[in-house]
Amino acid sequence: MVGLVATRMRALYVPWELALRERDRLFDDLQAWTKIDTIMLLDLYSARLRTGTHGVTYHNSQAALPPTTQFNSPVRIMSAGEFAGIADFMRTARSRGFKIASLVAPLFIPAAGESMACVDFTGRKLLGPKDSVFYGCPNNPAVVDYGQTFVRGLIGSWPAMDYLSLDHLEYPINLFTSYPNVDLRDLFVCFCEWCQMRAREEEFDLEGAKEEVASLFRSISSPRTRARPTAGPFGSADVLAFLVRRPQLTAWLDFRRRSMTRYARSLLDACRGASPARGSKPKIGFYFQLPSLSNLVGTDHETLFPLFDYACVKFPDYIPGSVLPIVTDKISEKTRAGDKMVLRSTMRELLDLGPGPKRYRPLGGMKDVLLYSNATDPSMVERQLKRISGLKPRTKIIPHVWEHNGDVASLRAKIEVLRRHGFRDYTVWAFEDGLTRENLRTASGVI
Ligand SMILES: [Zn+2]
Repeated sequence: MVGLVATRMRALYVPWELALRERDRLFDDLQAWTKIDTIMLLDLYSARLRTGTHGVTYHNSQAALPPTTQFNSPVRIMSAGEFAGIADFMRTARSRGFKIASLVAPLFIPAAGESMACVDFTGRKLLGPKDSVFYGCPNNPAVVDYGQTFVRGLIGSWPAMDYLSLDHLEYPINLFTSYPNVDLRDLFVCFCEWCQMRAREEEFDLEGAKEEVASLFRSISSPRTRARPTAGPFGSADVLAFLVRRPQLTAWLDFRRRSMTRYARSLLDACRGASPARGSKPKIGFYFQLPSLSNLVGTDHETLFPLFDYACVKFPDYIPGSVLPIVTDKISEKTRAGDKMVLRSTMRELLDLGPGPKRYRPLGGMKDVLLYSNATDPSMVERQLKRISGLKPRTKIIPHVWEHNGDVASLRAKIEVLRRHGFRDYTVWAFEDGLTRENLRTASGVI
């Protein structure tokens, strides 16, 4: 175990297509203008998106693995020639002094059998947009097998790998992938046959939970009536009162956390047991959502923290900038509950995201998976860091921040908070327009 060794990682996510197209320019710029020491690469290879799509990275993806990888389910894999191309990129990055991190979202299933998908409380499968990925259920043995095969394949075939980070160990939350055709039922999974079987084993009343989930859904998706005149002020006391009357709902959230933890452990075991293509074994880490949200989406970060070599806490602009407004606007529309801005503020307060802007600046549609450019409150990072101050050792915590729209000023504000809290390491997600020479030069002194 290498868990007690401080992890030094200043990592930047680079989309595969840009990496292959502008390899040397990218390495030159990163070394000239930044302190980035690690290149983060996705487990799935996606070609560049066409104009008009939503900036989702996982469109039409193939596993970034050699075609000899043996999956037991249908998975699109790279050809030998394509894999040689990405392997060459990794070797060159290494020779230029960069470390390599593999970013793996094992529950994002690309075009595999639909029997692996999560199922909502109405029995509907979450298959997502065509040619994109869908969420697999962590209790489904085919999903476990897929994830284990994937991580073993990555560790066994990538010519260089210093870190393997498991991402999105969570139930669906990325509602922007289906925007504007949003269905809030996507948030209330999973009730598939494997979850039913697991619940029977644990003597957990999943059917009872399903009724309470359905009741919750009705309360946020049907018009307020005189019998339920809750259109007025709504806050944490109302949430508490609601939960007290529905104990199975809370127990269900815990059932989801246990299911996800079991799944995370099975992947960690596969990673620890895999033999690397060359060199020493990679350190294994995991990402978790905003600390105020993590448990609600199934990630028990406190239980997982001691098991992994490092843990990346996410401060994603897409929570305040698209997921939250999508959810609250939908609730306002369905319940006819009046001012949607009031509901946005209330939800921000419940999740401790900071008050946010008085006026949200629209990006004119979905851009870099965001609807608004200014929804991240500068205080969000500060507020959320307090919630994980008990996790020890601190050297295992690596904050994860976003750069979108080429907005270096916003990135600077977030990094400054992290520096104030003594964090020297970070992982950064950026889109192609943030990785131009001009933008990387502007980011000098920031990352
Ligand atoms: Zn399930």
